[in-house]
Amino acid sequence: MHPNALQTPITYLKGVGPGRAALLGRELGIETYQDLLYFFPNRYIDKSRFYKISELERTGAEVQIIGRITHIKTVAQKKGKRLVATFKDDTGSLELVWFRGQKWIQDRIKLNEPYVIFGRTNYFNGSFSMPHPEIELLSQFEGQKRIVMQPVYPSTEKLSKQGVTNRQISKWIHFLLEETGGQIGETLPAKVREALVLPGKQRALWQVHFPDSQKELAQSRFRLKFEELFYIQLALLTKKNRRKSRIKGLVFEKVGALFTDFFENHLPFELTGAQKKVLKEIRADLGSHAQMNRLLQGDVGSGKTIVAVMTILLALDNGFQACLVAPTEILAQQHHQSVSELLEPMGIKVGLLTGSVKTKDRKPIHEGLKNKSLSILIGTHAVLEETVQFANLGLAIIDEQHRFGVAQRARMWKKNDTPPHILVMTATPIPRTLAMSLYGDLDISVIDALPPGRKPVRTVHRTDSDRLKVFGFIREQIALGRQVYVVYPLIQESEALDYKDLMDGFESISREFPPPSYQISIVHGKMKPQDKEYEMQRFVAGKTQIMVATTVIEVGVNVPNASVMVIESAERFGLSQLHQLRGRVGRGADQSYCILMSSGKLSDDARTRLQTMVRTNDGFEIAETDLQLRGPGNLMGTQQSGILALKIADVVKDSDILKTARFYAQQLLKNDPGLEAVSHQMVREKMSRMDVFKNIWDYIS
Ligand code: ADP
Ligand code: MG
Repeated sequence: MHPNALQTPITYLKGVGPGRAALLGRELGIETYQDLLYFFPNRYIDKSRFYKISELERTGAEVQIIGRITHIKTVAQKKGKRLVATFKDDTGSLELVWFRGQKWIQDRIKLNEPYVIFGRTNYFNGSFSMPHPEIELLSQFEGQKRIVMQPVYPSTEKLSKQGVTNRQISKWIHFLLEETGGQIGETLPAKVREALVLPGKQRALWQVHFPDSQKELAQSRFRLKFEELFYIQLALLTKKNRRKSRIKGLVFEKVGALFTDFFENHLPFELTGAQKKVLKEIRADLGSHAQMNRLLQGDVGSGKTIVAVMTILLALDNGFQACLVAPTEILAQQHHQSVSELLEPMGIKVGLLTGSVKTKDRKPIHEGLKNKSLSILIGTHAVLEETVQFANLGLAIIDEQHRFGVAQRARMWKKNDTPPHILVMTATPIPRTLAMSLYGDLDISVIDALPPGRKPVRTVHRTDSDRLKVFGFIREQIALGRQVYVVYPLIQESEALDYKDLMDGFESISREFPPPSYQISIVHGKMKPQDKEYEMQRFVAGKTQIMVATTVIEVGVNVPNASVMVIESAERFGLSQLHQLRGRVGRGADQSYCILMSSGKLSDDARTRLQTMVRTNDGFEIAETDLQLRGPGNLMGTQQSGILALKIADVVKDSDILKTARFYAQQLLKNDPGLEAVSHQMVREKMSRMDVFKNIWDYIS
């Protein structure tokens, strides 16, 4: 048989054809036989039991009941009429309701005969009803073979309109399983399957689409989830192993003069234990003959910059150049400023390259990098451009990972024959489970403590009716010499309206806080970079007391004297954004405050978000809540990874399976790093067919 039969385009499946194939591709991403087989139900309707009417709960669940129809009547309503039947069993009664197809139903209903009904129940005014139930005479029902757990596939309106119903999809899959059954080879090593008592691949696929029982379904789903996570872990671990064994790292043997001089004479404060621990981990990497690829996680304000600077000095001490890349112009400038301040006393020059640096100013930078007179370059993605060539780049530090894709990380490699060491810094706390699947190929360091003397930011939730009090509070803080941020949401879809909100807000604040006593900065995305820069600098220098802004300030700005963060329409921000914004204050010694303004009406999710912010300052706790609320697909950075395009597993809900999968993947690679054993051939084959591996090989070679 053709080894690639599962890659057959779906259009060739009996009953599909070009029109529906196009529809399936567009709506569900189903292009091949294999895609259809791996198109899994997102829930199952349990028809394994019958409910009594007295057992019904107000959950809106779909249930199956046996009983009789005792009355049927038409009831007039505002528009048209509805058909209502009284349905009874020996424990109670409920109403069946039809708004459409009434005549057809009415002609066929047999009063006082036993029926099986199935549907969703509603509860209103003390009694249950079931609109448009599936209904069948018990005598007929008993004559048929039943699917106990009926699969329900994800669908779209377009699909159902074109007649691609749940039943149709189910039929196609049944047909496909029968056609290709023999070709679905086992893809997990026998040892692993035995150890975990997993059903075979073919059985698992059959049972997940056509379950015989809850138990079989559970086992099959476990197996398929495990397999999915197992291969991702294999991918990540293989990548990591290859990198460690094949890619020679530049060896930074010395802790040299610059590092020591800085440490002894220029360090502006004592390092925290967490910073020391992380520096130790980094130094171990740099001296290890393997290339460093480390993710440094640390909450906003935890002090990542100094770690970056000291790592840069290690590179310089060993005769290498270093670069630091930030996601925005403002952030790059701020890094440039703070790094320059730290290193200038030692006579070290730091270059800055961003999109707005003029061509004539670029030339000396390009030359300095080539002739080694410039050893440190800080900038935006402009640093990644082809024209920027280093003499010997030894270290690339990337700040705020979530703005960078893997492709951009990869471009760093092209700057050298031997790849530089890479340190990725992120302030987005990533829950461990997710870190394992997203960055399983990176080593992870965490700065898990804030510098001493920091007072946790006090957070409150206020509504519009409190506005005058909020203004009063701002006035008090400014009188104490502090500065204030007022941030407005900016969502692309409602951009015009949002700008109006921003401008209205700016006006009312200007009225409340008039010159000359008060000066206000405003910064938003529509301004020219140099105007933005000018306004930012006025605030940084303390010339303005209030900064009104959209989320452009989200990333990185550091103004320790700012002690109040007011977030307008806070209900429209995501949790991680709120947390990032709050991180802009609480950087100095003063008590800082975060005021979340919202309307009085909130959705449940919005309320949970605001309550979480009021309750805790812990970035990891907030990230966990975010993950629970939104699922992994929406977390920052996950969209671009592709690794999380999971078909059946869920990295949050299935974190236990993920751990198991990682363990078995580690085990397998420990015993057979090259996957050379005959019993692992199928693993090799499957890996070579996976997209995620293809990308990874590109990335590595
Ligand atoms: P982030 O991790 O958000 O990049 P920064 O590196 O900007 O944090 O540090 C935040 C602030 O804390 C800076 O003003 C920095 O000078 C200060 N800081 C960092 N480490 C320490 C420390 N060990 N002791 C005191 N202050 C520190
Ligand atoms: Mg920072």
